[in-house]
Amino acid sequence: MSDLSCWQHLYQLQRPSPLQRLCHPLLEQHRLTLWIKRDDLLHHLISGNKWRKLKYTLRQALSEQAGGLLSFGGAYSNHLHALAAAGHRLGLPTVGMVRGESHSNNPTLEDARRWGMTLEFVDRQQYRRRQDADWLAELTRRHPGYLIIPEGGSCPQALPGVAELWQEVGQELPELDEVILPVASGGTLAGLLSARPASTRVRGYAVLKGAGWLAEEVCRLYPPAAQDNGWQLELSHHGGGYAKSSAADKAAIAELAVQLKVPLEAIYSGKALLGLFRDIADGRYAAGSRLLFLHTGGMQGARGAL
Ligand SMILES: *Cc1c(COP(=O)(O)O)cnc(C)c1O
Repeated sequence: MSDLSCWQHLYQLQRPSPLQRLCHPLLEQHRLTLWIKRDDLLHHLISGNKWRKLKYTLRQALSEQAGGLLSFGGAYSNHLHALAAAGHRLGLPTVGMVRGESHSNNPTLEDARRWGMTLEFVDRQQYRRRQDADWLAELTRRHPGYLIIPEGGSCPQALPGVAELWQEVGQELPELDEVILPVASGGTLAGLLSARPASTRVRGYAVLKGAGWLAEEVCRLYPPAAQDNGWQLELSHHGGGYAKSSAADKAAIAELAVQLKVPLEAIYSGKALLGLFRDIADGRYAAGSRLLFLHTGGMQGARGAL
């Protein structure tokens, strides 16, 4: 029964993810209040921001009676993992175009296969063409009727699911000064901007190197962001590149996880939170501010790491 009632069943389980206040000497020293929104606890399989970003894309696929779902990601992709789990639940076949070697294997890909995702491996050069019209046309020919979802699930339909986060936050924390989050493809940031309360700024920490293009990408996903000066991107805490971190940074993230009593991974949440703490130490957050860090999930990708 791949119809809308499956989707309703899946998403009616949604409860607000927990909000926790964090304690750390640095916060006291700089007179900051910091909460964390634990979207890593939203769903046990469809992790964090991918649960929110996929919500209305999945509904669209079901209401259009798509033949299946096809998307793109790396070998540890939280997005492909979430998509495979969702497709399995909803009775929709899934295809994952994976950047990597055909013999690649790891717990992420094992799960995806177990949930019935067909994996097609492509080399880096081919993967770079993931937005090219001619490759997309070829994929449509090979998988007729499939909904093709961009990498990371970041498309305009991803925005309303993310925007719903503000209702959850607003009920408990009505007077936030700033929301801080890790950013990779920009969809989560764009979704937050699409419903930002005027008094709450949004600051994204890019987890990849040379991400000067990201601001433009956020504006492509949500054009009014171009006229909004209530948000900014931090580009200098990439730690050497996507999924890269020095041994010292990894150790610092592991230490933060212990001090804050929150599970972190080094690719997204841990890298961004470390960047936030370094900026706090540098005095880049005004004393008295009320901050919220969004834990975007992704703990599945860290199995065997950190
Ligand atoms: C995908 C992902 C992100 C990045 O979100 P974007 O919307 O692509 O910017 C951040 N954190 C985690 C855990 C993710 O899986």
